[in-house]
Amino acid sequence: MKTSNRLQRSLIRHYIFFFITIALIAAFSLFVLNAQMVNYFREASGPVKSEEAEVMGGPTATPGVNSEQHEQEKVKVFYGMALKTLLLFLALFAIIVYAFGRWTASRVTTPLRSIADGIRSIARGHYHERLNFQASYELAQIQDDFNEMAARLEQIEKEKRELEESKQRMLMDISHDLKTPMTTLRGYIEAMEAGLVDSEERRAQILSMISNKASLMLELIDGIFELSKLDSPEYPFDVQTSDITEFTRAIAAEYYEVFEEHKFYFHYDIPDREIWIPFNATWLYRAVSNILSNALKYNPPGTTVGLKLAAAGNGVEIHLSDDGVGIPEAIKGTVFDAFVRGDLARTSDGGTGLGLAIAKQVIEKHGGTITLTTNGQTTFVLFLPEEM
Ligand code: ADP
Repeated sequence: MKTSNRLQRSLIRHYIFFFITIALIAAFSLFVLNAQMVNYFREASGPVKSEEAEVMGGPTATPGVNSEQHEQEKVKVFYGMALKTLLLFLALFAIIVYAFGRWTASRVTTPLRSIADGIRSIARGHYHERLNFQASYELAQIQDDFNEMAARLEQIEKEKRELEESKQRMLMDISHDLKTPMTTLRGYIEAMEAGLVDSEERRAQILSMISNKASLMLELIDGIFELSKLDSPEYPFDVQTSDITEFTRAIAAEYYEVFEEHKFYFHYDIPDREIWIPFNATWLYRAVSNILSNALKYNPPGTTVGLKLAAAGNGVEIHLSDDGVGIPEAIKGTVFDAFVRGDLARTSDGGTGLGLAIAKQVIEKHGGTITLTTNGQTTFVLFLPEEM
């Protein structure tokens, strides 16, 4: 049986039941009327016979008048019985109509009223509203669908609120991160303007600090711009299917020298065979180099850094690891969020807190995932699917 017709069929069944009940009441009423009449005629036949005897035996008898009176009497009695039967029928009919009305209300009207109330609540933005009535067939289905819709709307509303909160927080972080170096810059400039910097050596030192602060601010602005581009659905994120092993080898070659220069150990493990997958080389380079630069930035010389590329499932994995100081415990859970920085990055002007957030966005734009494991060493695993 098709579920879309079940309520309709149930209603038709109940209407048939209703009409059969009415027909039975009518039949019962007729039966009562008939029984009354049979009874009456049986009782009436006695006196008629005695009247007949009277007519035959006595001279004063007037049979024509008696039988006319008798007929009138019978008609009167018949109408009286018919009226009583009609009243009985109407009483039973009223009871059935009332019971059927109650049943219809409980089966259809009450759920419909609940649904209307629920829709009104949702329209007013009360997304926590859920329906909870007893019903079967399509009405139960509507109730389930309504509750599912309300749950989704509630979830969307929650996400919207969280997004607004995170944007608000981000704006506060940006203004804070720009204000702090700006204030320092203004201090240096005012000191120079007031002639407080007398030696050339000190002047050169201050200019270098001003330049560093300005670079950090530019880095921050660039990072914010990159993040907002990646965040925008309109931003064209072009990918090309290329050999990822060649791409990774080029990065490894570039970083090999950098790590060597800073007395780090660098190992890489890249397969010889070609692996062709779709990726955006510019952005993927940005993601991988953010992580490798962090390994260099936050760890002392002597740290071992690893880069490994391997086919995994229906894609590839890039493992970037180091055995250095490790991600600070306090930020392990939020390290991929924008503006999250460890104390070292905070105090040394060393970072913007955007590097890993950008890396995450880039990998997710590829339809992949980025994960962090910290057992013994810090490892970021970047998974890129072979099909986007
Ligand atoms: P930034 O480096 O600009 O501060 P990131 O998002 O790149 O921002 O990194 C967030 C924080 O994670 C850093 O401030 C640092 O404390 C920590 N971190 C990242 N990579 C490493 C690493 N390889 N070793 C230790 N700490 C790290």
